[in-house]
Amino acid sequence: MKSFPSIVEPARHTPVWHECDVCVVGGSCTGVFAAVRAARLGLRVALVERMGCFGGVATLSLVNVWHSQFDERFEKQIFAGLTLETIERLRRRNAVSDTARCPSWAWAFNPHELQIELDELVISSRVRPWLHTAFVAPHVQEDGRLRGIIVENKSGRGVILANQFIDASGDGDIAHRMGLPTTISATNQPSTTCATFTGWDSIRHLDLGKLIREHGKEFGLPQGFVWAAPIPGSPVHMLAATRIYDANCADADALTRAEIEGRRQVRAVFDLVKKYAPQGDIVLQGLPARLGIRETRHVKCRYQLTGDDVLTGRHFDDAIANGSYRVDIHHPDKPGITLRYLSGVQEYNCPGYPSEITRWRAETTENPTYYQIPLRSLLPAGASNLIVAGRMIDTDPVAHAAVRVMVNMNQTGEAAGVAAALAVQSGKNLAQVEPAAIRAELARGGSIIL
Ligand SMILES: Cc1cc2nc3c(=O)[nH]c(=O)nc-3n(C[C@H](O)[C@H](O)[C@H](O)COP(=O)(O)OP(=O)(O)OC[C@H]3O[C@@H](n4cnc5c(N)ncnc54)[C@H](O)[C@@H]3O)c2cc1C
Repeated sequence: MKSFPSIVEPARHTPVWHECDVCVVGGSCTGVFAAVRAARLGLRVALVERMGCFGGVATLSLVNVWHSQFDERFEKQIFAGLTLETIERLRRRNAVSDTARCPSWAWAFNPHELQIELDELVISSRVRPWLHTAFVAPHVQEDGRLRGIIVENKSGRGVILANQFIDASGDGDIAHRMGLPTTISATNQPSTTCATFTGWDSIRHLDLGKLIREHGKEFGLPQGFVWAAPIPGSPVHMLAATRIYDANCADADALTRAEIEGRRQVRAVFDLVKKYAPQGDIVLQGLPARLGIRETRHVKCRYQLTGDDVLTGRHFDDAIANGSYRVDIHHPDKPGITLRYLSGVQEYNCPGYPSEITRWRAETTENPTYYQIPLRSLLPAGASNLIVAGRMIDTDPVAHAAVRVMVNMNQTGEAAGVAAALAVQSGKNLAQVEPAAIRAELARGGSIIL
């Protein structure tokens, strides 16, 4: 923890701008889906997002790929809910494309269309949106219960009071500022700045990873990982070819440096292509509003989901989400990614080299085909009316590497919204609401509960 000289701020009266039943901080699909599920149960819900649109990494950071709704063998459907509703909304706009039986992606979508769909979903669900509004501090009662959140925006500084709170800020900002225990893993996955470009056809057959391996140094480009995805209905592609090592993006200075370094690397990739693959007629078309952050804080909850739970497909009686996306480790200390499948296969993919296929465990006759996330990994220890959703849930590094993808995080959002709604309706603390009741309500609202 850095130590700074300090000043004393004068005490002040802060206006109560809004009062509601459930307040959600963070407006990625995780937060939007949390808000919508609570609102659909008749609650008054506020949704606070510090940027100008909803969608989080999917819109702000241009990451436009969601993964399969089926288990690892593509036989059993394991989730539905608002993720599929959103896909159907995008389909009506010709803004999504499908890829069947592929572990790397099931849907690529247009992130700009997604922004507008999320606006419509929020408004039609009667959620009260607060855009360009940042959570800055908790307002905690003497008995330790969270009574409100202090926010800042163009109008100044105000309070939103609520009965239940959902931290979907990615970084666990509410939990952290309440002084609840949080951790940052020593193997924190590095961040990536994506970009959109035109001219894909001219580099379709180019091994960009190999090019970066051979000539990247000349442009100050570290080796990381390279992938690209089409933006449906447009001549534009998304490219993820940068890697920002050694940056704790929950620290303001490190985040500032990472943003600037990410953009520098985007330009370096384009300059490298122009020099060493002059047939590559690509044009930088768009930069993200925010770099793509894979991991920062995790909030200590009633249970830490482990890599072993994920890789052995452990079932939980309080399961609120099902996933089949493989363990996908972007290494903080070497290039490439390591993938571990529930089938026991392990792949190390380093750009510019052939994949190394091994096994992380010996062959067995029966393999699990999906894993589960339990509610208890969303319930912070020491808080009565705060639930977390999204990448800050309590996981070890291997579990995080699998569950972090959006189709999983979306389900944690839906579960948090339903849990908070039932807590309000029953007058109970979150941990006292029966997981069976939350699972039943999730199923009634369109989720697949296994
Ligand atoms: C480069 C990259 C590629 C990836 N590839 C894929 C992929 O192909 N498919 C996939 O599914 N997943 C992918 N992931 C992982 C996935 O995108 C993230 O794990 C997931 O989006 C995390 O969701 P979240 O809701 O927890 O956080 P975020 O999406 O980061 O959302 C947090 C939201 O909270 C807001 N917020 C933060 N602090 C505050 C505050 N104090 N006040 C108000 N609002 C606040 C933020 O602005 C943001 O909108 C990738 C991640 C990265 C970085």
